[in-house]
Amino acid sequence: MPSTRLANLVDGRLQAPLDSRWLEIHEPATGAVFAQCPDSNAADVDTAVQAAQKAAPGWAATPAEERARLLHRLADLIEGRLDEFAALESRDSGKPVALARRLDIPRAVSNLRFFAAAVMAWDSESHAMESGAINYTLRRPLGVVGCISPWNLPLYLFTWKIAPALASGNTVVAKPSEITPCTAALLGELSIEAGFPAGVLNIVHGRGPITGQAIVEHPGIKAVSFTGSTRTGASIAATVAPQFKKVSLELGGKNPAIVFADADLCDENLDTIVRSGFANQGEICLCGSRLLVQRSIYDSFRERYLARVKALRVGDPQEPSSDLGALVSREHFDKVMRCIAQARDEGGQVLAGGHALSPDGRCADGWFIAPTVIDGLPNDAATNQQEIFGPVVTLIPFDDDAEAIAIANGTRYGLAASLWTGDLSRAHRMAAELDFGIVWINCWLLRDLRTPFGGSKQSGVGREGGTEALRFFTEPRNVCIRYGNGGT
Ligand code: NAD
Repeated sequence: MPSTRLANLVDGRLQAPLDSRWLEIHEPATGAVFAQCPDSNAADVDTAVQAAQKAAPGWAATPAEERARLLHRLADLIEGRLDEFAALESRDSGKPVALARRLDIPRAVSNLRFFAAAVMAWDSESHAMESGAINYTLRRPLGVVGCISPWNLPLYLFTWKIAPALASGNTVVAKPSEITPCTAALLGELSIEAGFPAGVLNIVHGRGPITGQAIVEHPGIKAVSFTGSTRTGASIAATVAPQFKKVSLELGGKNPAIVFADADLCDENLDTIVRSGFANQGEICLCGSRLLVQRSIYDSFRERYLARVKALRVGDPQEPSSDLGALVSREHFDKVMRCIAQARDEGGQVLAGGHALSPDGRCADGWFIAPTVIDGLPNDAATNQQEIFGPVVTLIPFDDDAEAIAIANGTRYGLAASLWTGDLSRAHRMAAELDFGIVWINCWLLRDLRTPFGGSKQSGVGREGGTEALRFFTEPRNVCIRYGNGGT
């Protein structure tokens, strides 16, 4: 675990913020302060950008093999401290340690390894012209790029950005969420041990509207890769527009999970459907928070579903047996509780949960909410339209494919849909009709890092993952060489 006072990583050195201001970091399970993180300002960001600019030509000229080796080395170091990273992620974010150990940290390691391998396998495109010329595409790194990530999957999403940025030859100024900065800070320390040259990876901690905004605005930052709320995404898009900066936005969602009467509702699939709503306390942008169920099985499905939801164990995130931990912050806890009150005001029936929880012992003052299931609200109710981002799922009946599609598509978001059916033709038909960046059929959260990741409508602009990410972080340059006699 890093020291209680986290540091910025600038120019290869751990540094305090220039004006020595700090933010308190709370443990969601107890509400207690356990660390402090730099409350950096625009001058800290400028110092980091200058370091990154100085390092950029050398890093761009470093062979891809060497960049890949360093990313693998960093992955090794994180993997070697898997338990420590998982415990820290859990303590910082309130997520169950078992989830951090199974998902967050291994996927962070995979991100580093995947992009190290991907950049090695990435071929330049070339085209031979009949008129006697060859075209090929050079892909040049952009220079210094900004990576800004949220609190819900802290290390996982931080590495999802810095790995392709570094692999493709850019230097980075990154800002993790000020609510969950700890594992990124530890990664920063390990990047020095791994041997990354000074200035290649810079991590500047701080608040979004101050530190984040300074990264986005800085003229030395050539592109911004952002994951977070739709509101912040809109503000970033407006800020970068006059500078014509590249921007990738991965934003909010209000995802449907659609269950047809012909679905195989075996125990394993039911468990996945429950997990798709409540994993990480519902604080995953991909969670299916609207559960659409075909009317002919509505009552029987609801009964089996509720029994499972009520059996979920909410408790100390550091306990390996906890299914759900605490919500990330007091503010977020209050927001989710307000959403539940609003659902009641709208006439929703709370069938499970609907209240805060206070586990015994050290977690008595933590920010826990019982997994909540709400029935009886139309799709256009505010509860079904706004992203709650907590352990709250609404049930909505539908009659046929057309109605399921209309309800599913009936939000401003378009991140991910999941579909449960035994009819393969229906699955393919619906996948084409559902206006979402990701459609899972008879599964959820199954990820292949080679595939494009992202959302449509107000869930984002652009795609991450695989070559999409490498394309984002590079500028293509067409080179045309004539060897024949023709041509102009
Ligand atoms: P947020 O927008 O409040 O903050 C995200 C990051 O942006 C943080 O690091 C924050 O400090 C920074 N930030 C805030 N204001 C900024 C500004 N003006 N300029 C630059 N940076 C700024 O989001 P959050 O509450 O941390 O995360 C939850 C949201 O993230 C949810 O809406 C969720 O759906 C979304 N999310 C989306 C994806 C996806 O892949 N689409 C994945 C995870 C989370």
